[in-house]
Amino acid sequence: MESINSLLDLSGKVAIVTGGAKGIGYGISYRLAEAGATVVMASRTASDGENAAKDLLGKGFKATAIATDVSQEDQVRGLVSETLKRFGGIDILVNNAGIYPTIPLSHMSLADFDNVLSINLKSVFLCTKYVSDEMIKGKRGGRIINITSIDALHPSSIGLAHYDASKHGVWGFTKNIALELAPHRIWVNAIAPGGILTPGVRKLQELTHMPQGVDTEKMMDEFLSRIPMGRMGEPDDIGKVALFLASGMSSYMTGSQIVVDGGVLLR
Ligand code: NAP
Repeated sequence: MESINSLLDLSGKVAIVTGGAKGIGYGISYRLAEAGATVVMASRTASDGENAAKDLLGKGFKATAIATDVSQEDQVRGLVSETLKRFGGIDILVNNAGIYPTIPLSHMSLADFDNVLSINLKSVFLCTKYVSDEMIKGKRGGRIINITSIDALHPSSIGLAHYDASKHGVWGFTKNIALELAPHRIWVNAIAPGGILTPGVRKLQELTHMPQGVDTEKMMDEFLSRIPMGRMGEPDDIGKVALFLASGMSSYMTGSQIVVDGGVLLR
């Protein structure tokens, strides 16, 4: 039987984490890098990526940043070709980048809807398509981990109709490609986080102007009171589960979604 250390060892593996510079993405990048993977953080803002890479390098891990807007096809192709050029292959893809602006339907424009679908769902299609092509050519299997949300299963608050549509979409996409990619030994799973304290959530908490009908402070307080574990999650709560899905610890899993929400969906 393989030892626990060897099961969790990602030495020699190359991982791309979209939105890897901040929040949940950074929590995931940290654990994959700690386990020995070379982590490529693909976030939009170049300076955030460079700072995050510096942090991980400072800990003796292997990491780099490639500034990418994952909703743009040419930039995703560039990310994949640059990663191959520098590291020779891709073993793990984490589709994490996403946004969650709160806008009630009555205030939601087509541009708002398109923007959320483009960053949260189209990006998952683009990254998965171009990375899985390379994984198939490389013939060494692979792991794809999609960060959905409890909103892929059940709405958490009003104002997130576009977000919930995108996350249900990512979950459907996950199951279908898990089926298609299994013959190539590419295992595809999802993680559905509940409320995790990240820069994105803090920005939402600080918003003073919200469209009519959404009181953010009340929304956050209500959400906290519904968490059976009594606390918001930390990025590392997701990082540890991503490591499980990227490693030999999840050897018989594909097409699954793991809910990591402190019990919120029990209510
Ligand atoms: P966050 O703190 O706002 O960080 C998001 C990261 O993604 C940032 O580095 C951001 O870069 C990057 N990003 C956004 N759009 C991008 C794009 N088009 N191309 C490349 N990078 C992009 O967000 P988070 O709270 O960690 O959320 C991460 C993921 O978890 C999202 O998919 C979200 O839906 C999901 N999730 C979060 C929670 C939660 O409670 N936090 C709960 C359930 C699910 P820039 O800042 O440069 O744009």
